[in-house]
Amino acid sequence: MKRTILVIEDNEQNLYLFTYLLKKAGYDIVQARDGAAGVEAAIRRTPDLILLDIQLPEMDGYTVFRELQARPELRAVPVVAVTSYAMPGDRERMLEMGFSGYFAKPIDPNAFPEDLKPLFDVQRGTDASE
Ligand code: MN
Repeated sequence: MKRTILVIEDNEQNLYLFTYLLKKAGYDIVQARDGAAGVEAAIRRTPDLILLDIQLPEMDGYTVFRELQARPELRAVPVVAVTSYAMPGDRERMLEMGFSGYFAKPIDPNAFPEDLKPLFDVQRGTDASE
């Protein structure tokens, strides 16, 4: 069975790129363009992995992440952060928060699907601030 990735991304170009690359790599893709729609889709579909843009309108990626953390039925779903404004220490901070992985934009389209693969098996951690 194909694995499903939920892509939560408000930028149409990025959404298109992720969808294109990951479909080509053999995944089913569910798209969400804002945080609320993303949380709703996660609950409805229970994807195998969630790719989460951090810079989202209204509900940002951190808030989306907390909403996901609050739902025990989604605990097993790895959440991978994608952010355009990478600051030193971002990766460490996000992994500490419980994200399963982290990518800085722009992603490398050639390496991305392969780099994502091992993250399906990375359990989400517990947010230390909970
Ligand atoms: Mn964005």
